[in-house]
Amino acid sequence: MTEGRPDVIDLRSDTVTRPSAGMLAAMTSAPVGDDVYGEDPTITELETEVAGLLGHEAGLFVATGSLANILGVRALAAPGTEVLCEASAHVARAELGAHAVVSGISTRTWSAPGGQIDLDQIRALIAPDLGPYFVTTSAVSVENTHNFGGGTIQTSYDALADELEGIGLPLHLDGARLWNASVASGVPLAAYASRATAASVCLSKGLGAPVGSVLVGSAELIKESRVWRKLLGAGWRQAGVLAAAGLYAVRNNVQRLAEDHANAGLIAEILADAAPGSVKPDQVDTNIVVADLAATGKSVAQVVAGAKAEGVLVGGVGVTQLRLVTHLDASAADCRQAAETVARLLR
Ligand SMILES: *Cc1c(COP(=O)(O)O)cnc(C)c1O
Repeated sequence: MTEGRPDVIDLRSDTVTRPSAGMLAAMTSAPVGDDVYGEDPTITELETEVAGLLGHEAGLFVATGSLANILGVRALAAPGTEVLCEASAHVARAELGAHAVVSGISTRTWSAPGGQIDLDQIRALIAPDLGPYFVTTSAVSVENTHNFGGGTIQTSYDALADELEGIGLPLHLDGARLWNASVASGVPLAAYASRATAASVCLSKGLGAPVGSVLVGSAELIKESRVWRKLLGAGWRQAGVLAAAGLYAVRNNVQRLAEDHANAGLIAEILADAAPGSVKPDQVDTNIVVADLAATGKSVAQVVAGAKAEGVLVGGVGVTQLRLVTHLDASAADCRQAAETVARLLR
């Protein structure tokens, strides 16, 4: 059950978690200082620890994953150039055009089931040196796991990284849920992230921290991004109380993501049984289940409202797509109950 709301099972997102007692205790005892002066020891510890885990030189603690992506993409792409990404990527769909508004960067997209990397489409789009008549491609951005693709793990990640290395184009990794990809695949975090020139991870999704993301890269890239964070009005002071939650999350809540993945598998089985074809359980890689209601004759709004009336919160992520996300505040019993509620509405 959702902490503080025992009457509700909330599977709209893994962002809805509340800090646990252990996490709150870590926050209240954290040593802090003024981070704009570089004097918050807890923030520095978090940045160093996450950079190490991800195989990079340096890290920068920021308020949101969107800000980490804005800073990371900006570092790789000059104004007037473009970044390639999948059509339903968070950078293209859910950051409100920030890369264009703030950084002067345009995107061109490929589209693939599950938000997967499609090497043939990417090869056809890449234009690193077609100037001055065409926009220059500066970087490729990849999401792993892919949120709107259904929490999918990128199967061609290394192949793309090899290809980009060959042509000298940087890779940006939106690793909001890289923790989930690593736990599910067994591939170490650094094996993924070190292939990218800039990578971001969220502490506030499945890891359960109330706030925060970390951008990692070279010492030079992070030094420059620290200036841009301040320029955007997002420098912060004694935010070590928040970094302490992130450190607690990184140290305690990564391996347990396997439970969330098992619970998502359980939900997928129950929904696939009630509405065959709406979900393919073998394609649920991690903690996100996206069900396509097109063939059920039920609308997303109808199912969302029906479930809510029974104390189960689920979300819509497309005209016919319903999304259920498992997390550390939803037990296996909660997930089963939620799935059975939705299944009843789909039958
Ligand atoms: C949640 C998320 C982000 C960042 O979101 P914020 O709400 O800005 O923290 C970035 N990328 C992906 C794939 C996400 O799921």
